Amino acid sequence: MIKRIDSLGRVVVPKGYRIMLGLKPGDPLDIQIDGGKLTMRPHKSSCTFCGSQKVSSAYMGKGLCAECLKAIKSLRGA
Ligand SMILES: [Zn+2]
Repeated sequence: MIKRIDSLGRVVVPKGYRIMLGLKPGDPLDIQIDGGKLTMRPHKSSCTFCGSQKVSSAYMGKGLCAECLKAIKSLRGA
């Protein structure tokens, strides 16, 4: 499928693709350049510390899973 970039650098993701991927307005996308290709994929938040995708909370924009949050809570002032 061929799409054109508009004067502001935007490209419309075809409706069928958005439905197939479950994308809704405002959803974040990871955009990367990969060997001369521009790739986009739905962004899935992951735990900053262990990489788990079971993010249960966030602090300053960084995701945290329940296990890492529990581990951090158990830390005593060092
Ligand atoms: Zn974690």
